[in-house]
Amino acid sequence: MRERIAVCPGSFDPITNGHIDIIRRGLGIFDRVVVAVGHNALKQDLFTTEEKVEMIKECVAPSNGRISVDVFEGLLVDYVKKIGACAILRGLRVVSDFEWEMQLSLMNRKLYGEVDTYFLMTDFRNLFVSSTIIKATVSAGGSVRGLVPDPVLYKLKEKFPFMSTD
Ligand code: ADP
Repeated sequence: MRERIAVCPGSFDPITNGHIDIIRRGLGIFDRVVVAVGHNALKQDLFTTEEKVEMIKECVAPSNGRISVDVFEGLLVDYVKKIGACAILRGLRVVSDFEWEMQLSLMNRKLYGEVDTYFLMTDFRNLFVSSTIIKATVSAGGSVRGLVPDPVLYKLKEKFPFMSTD
């Protein structure tokens, strides 16, 4: 039977416990999950693509080869086709996520009718966790311990030496 591969795309600037929860739970549905780092032109990144990939690799290991990390440019559906994936995996937190995610998933299906987007509801512990709020908090000196994995915490500390890690 054909391997069922899902692509979990995002800007991951940086990856948080919310993303990791979605990726790991995706393994309960798919044979493999490919975390695909893309550049969101609407957002200004703190981390380089290389830094993001390195952090994600550290955070998702070990996965018995079922989680891989890659970079994509251009249309997500072109990447999905290229690697032979059957699904896009996304997380949902609040009602405000829904509207944007629905537009994205409808557009992706219009562009490539063979791909479906699967949404997993966030865990309540990650309900208010976003890369944006993480960056806003540490840039003002606050602690985000418990909301991001340790490798991300250390990398943030390199960028914001004055931030608390309590
Ligand atoms: P993008 O810039 O494409 O939104 P993100 O890296 O911010 O990329 O998010 C990628 C995916 O992860 C999105 O589906 C987003 O809703 C989901 N996500 C982000 N944070 C969380 C969280 N705390 N819990 C569950 N899903 C999340």
